[in-house]
Amino acid sequence: GTGLADALALIADVPDFPEPGILFKDITPLLADHTAFTAVVQALADAGRDGSGRPAVDKVLGMESRGFILGAPVALALEVGFVPVRKVGKLPRETYAVSYALEYGEATLEVHRDAVRPGESVLLVDDVLATGGTARATLDLVEKCGASVHAVAMLMELGFLPGRETLGDVPLTTLLTV
Ligand code: 5GP
Repeated sequence: GTGLADALALIADVPDFPEPGILFKDITPLLADHTAFTAVVQALADAGRDGSGRPAVDKVLGMESRGFILGAPVALALEVGFVPVRKVGKLPRETYAVSYALEYGEATLEVHRDAVRPGESVLLVDDVLATGGTARATLDLVEKCGASVHAVAMLMELGFLPGRETLGDVPLTTLLTV
């Protein structure tokens, strides 16, 4: 098939992880396969290119922690820098922080204040779009930096959750809907 379809077929379904009733999508078999990993990184990087195939972003932001694994090689493919978006308390210098609601409680994400410059354009990368809370918070962090989001690129979206609606009109590329 297309390299991409073969790659996506390597994602494993794990029932009842991390809790009963959750069907977890495990991307580690895909990551372990060089051909599959390459196909996925190239497809995600295409979301950061213009109509002529040239890189259209200044940075790639990856959300902790599978967004680091996918986002860093996407940044190298686009020949731009990589910026980690981390859970609260992990980044050592001055940060912007955004909190968002989880099913139970809330979570906070941070980015270094000087990691994205005013006026820059960025690509967000993560593995799974579920409720969209993580991506929404990251959009807000980019706004705090005075930058703009060119697009959001995710390996997969959970079609039964309102992730797309949560993101509003930001261009969203996902390689698989489950
Ligand atoms: P959201 O904030 O959109 O509700 O959740 C997205 C975040 O949860 C992503 O960072 C993603 O890594 C993680 N996530 C949620 N469900 C799954 C899943 O089934 N598999 C994997 N690999 N990650 C998930």
